[in-house]
Amino acid sequence: MSYHPKKQQQHKENVEKAIQNAQQERGQILVITGNGKGKTTAGFGNTTRALGHQQKVAVVQFVKGVGECGERNLLESLNVPFHTMATGFSWNSEDKAKDKLAAEQAWQQAKVWLQDPELDMLLLDELTYMITWDFLELNDILNALKNRPKEMSVIITGRAAHRELKELADTVSEVRPEKHAFHQGLMARKGLDW
Ligand code: ATP
Ligand code: MG
Repeated sequence: MSYHPKKQQQHKENVEKAIQNAQQERGQILVITGNGKGKTTAGFGNTTRALGHQQKVAVVQFVKGVGECGERNLLESLNVPFHTMATGFSWNSEDKAKDKLAAEQAWQQAKVWLQDPELDMLLLDELTYMITWDFLELNDILNALKNRPKEMSVIITGRAAHRELKELADTVSEVRPEKHAFHQGLMARKGLDW
């Protein structure tokens, strides 16, 4: 796309109009979904933005490999509270009931944080799978999100976000995979992928 002063001017006017129309201020729900790389890193990127303003943040990781997580190392050193599901990826797991229980425990913690008026931002990383796999009840999740304190923002990541979750969200971004290193035989890499 080339640079056209006229188009830029029109764009600027449209943005200014939109800014004037924005009258409400409240916490928001952001869903980052799709099959491309960048959902979790975007979610954590947003938490660092909030932390940089001295806001209060908490994180629940609903699906976790057995390995380390750089963001967790960093944020825990800043005393950001974390709850990480103790099980690995579900396709590694033989015991579905155990995974479901771990999901329910993680969700209990998420629900406590969803009622905490002190919290500015809650990251629910990979929550979408809990709905897809029937580990958690969609309506329970929707209700807890709707009833959260007005100022709290919630970021939800994971592929194939449920339609009703997207409807409730204020912003939905889909990350589309145009290319991924994995498909060229490149291994997941410390610092880049975890
Ligand atoms: P990231 O954590 O890097 O932001 P993500 O949250 O968007 O990635 P997930 O679907 O949660 O991606 O998958 C986690 C892992 O799978 C990461 O190591 C990531 O690099 C890898 N991955 C993401 N998208 C793809 C893809 N399209 N093909 C193969 N691997 C992928
Ligand atoms: Mg992810």
